[in-house]
Amino acid sequence: MLVFATETSCDETSICLMKDKEILLHKVYSQEIHKKFGGVVPELASRAHLEILQNMTSEIFKKNEPNYKNIDLFAATCGPGLIGSLLVGATFTKALALGFNRPFVPINHLEGHVLSTSFNNSIKYPHLVLLLTGGHTQIYFMDNSNKIKLIAESVDDALGEVFDKTAKLLGLEYPGGIEIENRAKNGNENAFNLPKPLVKKDNLNFSFSGIKTHINLLTKNNDINDNFINDIAASFQKCVSEILISKIESCLKTYSNKNNKIKSISVVGGVANNKYIKKKLEDFLYNKEIEIYYPIKEMMSDNAAMIAWACLNNYNSKRNNLFFKPEPRLKINELLVN
Ligand code: ZN
Repeated sequence: MLVFATETSCDETSICLMKDKEILLHKVYSQEIHKKFGGVVPELASRAHLEILQNMTSEIFKKNEPNYKNIDLFAATCGPGLIGSLLVGATFTKALALGFNRPFVPINHLEGHVLSTSFNNSIKYPHLVLLLTGGHTQIYFMDNSNKIKLIAESVDDALGEVFDKTAKLLGLEYPGGIEIENRAKNGNENAFNLPKPLVKKDNLNFSFSGIKTHINLLTKNNDINDNFINDIAASFQKCVSEILISKIESCLKTYSNKNNKIKSISVVGGVANNKYIKKKLEDFLYNKEIEIYYPIKEMMSDNAAMIAWACLNNYNSKRNNLFFKPEPRLKINELLVN
């Protein structure tokens, strides 16, 4: 099966040609235009997607490698995400599917992230997926490859969003994840004791907005110099890692029993690039007989390769749906037919 997929749910424009388990071509463009606003401007994102998608696609169709007439399926992210951006990607891909008279397969962006580690790992079930992106902080439970059950999520901001907002409060550039990680290397992680909302409660969900508010107060009462920025960045990373570990621990307790022990955990989404968080999770899982999986680098942040892979993973003719309307709050299992 040869699939052409697009991803336009936020500010990354991406296309991918995937044949079975081989990525033939993958392009990801992170829109620069949002940098000066310190966050994504939805209207600008939609316009940029339209222009970039056309250029990327006509470039590969001109080269005709592989022969694009052999494409079997056209897939696009149809939610969740920014509605304007989703409409651009979905409508563009639907037009191609219609033009080539091939099936159009709507894909859930979260399903793309959740299934991304099955591209390069043979998953051991029961399995947990920790999804950490700019739009979502969630934990999924999978007792086999077809069932994806949401068991925990952030009740307010997503972790990636808190990284960006913290960076903005400290006067660092957007996107904030890499800036915070670099600054933290020179900071004292015990300098500030940041709040850990919901950690002591008997609750699997996350809450991060209190940390941001606390850091905002600290920036008002301190000189924002290099030492302060580095110490906040380090304390922030330590705090959020502890929150993630405490929630994983609770999920392991809740979803494991004698006959049904969790055997593996996937850490997916852009925040999974953070080396400090990865190290802390690996230290926590050490000696617990739980495997930890990450996606290949190309499938970490938002990308069309994971959309192509999700399409190939679950394709059956019932998923062919040219009339599916993009949905900004699409739920994880709404498109799964299996
Ligand atoms: Zn994403």
